[in-house]
Amino acid sequence: MSGASILVYAERVGGNLGQIEKLLAGPLADFNGIHVLPFFHPYDGDDAGFDPIDHTIVDPRLGDWTDFKRISGTHELTADLIVNHASYQSPEFLDWQAKGDASEFAGMFLTFDAVFPNGGDEEGITSFYRPRPGLPFTAFEVAGKRRLVWTTFMPSQVDIDIKHPAGQAYLVRVLEALKSGGVKVVRLDAVGYAVKTPGTDSFMTPETLEFVKEISDLIHSYDMRVLVEVHAHYTQQLDIAPLVDLIYDFQTAPLLLHSLGTGTVDKLAKWFEIRPTNCLNVLDTHDGIGIIDGGPIGGKPGLITQDDMAAIFKRAEEATNGHSAIASVVPQWFTLPHQINATFPAVVNNDTGYVLCRAVQFFLPGEPQVYYVGLLNGMDDIELFNRTAQGRDVNRHHYTPEELEVAIAQPVTQAIIALARLRNHGAFEGQFAWKTTGANSMNLSWVNGDDQVSLDFVTDASAPSFVVTVIDASGTSRYSSVEELAGLGLVLTK
Ligand code: BGC
Repeated sequence: MSGASILVYAERVGGNLGQIEKLLAGPLADFNGIHVLPFFHPYDGDDAGFDPIDHTIVDPRLGDWTDFKRISGTHELTADLIVNHASYQSPEFLDWQAKGDASEFAGMFLTFDAVFPNGGDEEGITSFYRPRPGLPFTAFEVAGKRRLVWTTFMPSQVDIDIKHPAGQAYLVRVLEALKSGGVKVVRLDAVGYAVKTPGTDSFMTPETLEFVKEISDLIHSYDMRVLVEVHAHYTQQLDIAPLVDLIYDFQTAPLLLHSLGTGTVDKLAKWFEIRPTNCLNVLDTHDGIGIIDGGPIGGKPGLITQDDMAAIFKRAEEATNGHSAIASVVPQWFTLPHQINATFPAVVNNDTGYVLCRAVQFFLPGEPQVYYVGLLNGMDDIELFNRTAQGRDVNRHHYTPEELEVAIAQPVTQAIIALARLRNHGAFEGQFAWKTTGANSMNLSWVNGDDQVSLDFVTDASAPSFVVTVIDASGTSRYSSVEELAGLGLVLTK
């Protein structure tokens, strides 16, 4: 897709799909695509929709598939395929619990024995790479017998046996529903954990890559693109990139935070040298700001060091009055959080620096996607966090239509919308180039015949700055402040 997309929760951006449609036709018309986070039944389970009871229907409180069909007529629509798990309240799980082996869904859910048919030992069981604290099993009553079922994320999210025909049939049913609703891009949620291979840490193993390849072929057979979500060492991102249509660039965000904090661009440049081009360019998502993605993992050096990571967390803590340190979760086996739980603008804490980061995101090859809270220049929702005690909720504010109107009018938001408008300029269909212009500065540019766009930026720790230059048939224009960019009126030469 050319152009930019937004990432939203339907219920948090105005309340339902009807409101989303109005935004896409109105103030957000410069975005060409939209990823609606899990909107299945129910959108408000334990994991904000990532624990579907029925993954094939739209939660009726939000709308239905016909709403999506309409949206997909004008915007490239992305939706999640939650491959690793379903809700323990799903009809399939309940049926298996009631009937055991006689259930048509027997085998769909992954049991301890399915992975360790000859028994598991302490090392085998504890070596799994864990996204959440504790062991990845929960005991459930199945046809009068206790069974140990894999629950990689929460006890209410029961893992699917993706190798079993019943698990595969489930995934096919979901894909057919997504296709019927006009979905064009399928996000493979948490796929890095989906294949359990005893004797390994079962995260992004060769067996996982094989599964990614198989399921991508299946998704392609429905004429949909595949976006893979993996928070991992940057080399693992490089491994998976050639297998799929799109991978997230989770590395640029921590590197930009490092650059802005230190006034250097050398580590950012190292990433630009090797960065794949089939990226979904993100700085923030509903999960927070991934920092581990730039850091060392499992003894492999990162693009930034552990000390650099600690310094990023420290600066985020200062910028958010100590709050990000309370909200961000430290896994049992690491000394730092993996992600900052705070909004991106709150962490950058400087409008020019923040828009600079967005400009870099939009100028890099790939497909820029902006999370709604970041787009709306949202600050931490401390009240929501205090209510739910879920760190990620600081970055998941529910906007009423009135709040949206006020937020959209802000210069920062208008500047980001202007970047989305600019991203449709014909120059972006030409050749990309980048260079380091000083210890703390870079130039990114696109040239297509007589059309040129460029971004010069300086990551001076106390006074970050940028200049966007557009050269085309209408002349040369320069935008060097948030306000100027917010007013960008382009004659598109596409
Ligand atoms: C999603 C998270 C979710 C997890 C389990 C992640 O990849 O982005 O929000 O909690 O998968 O489904």
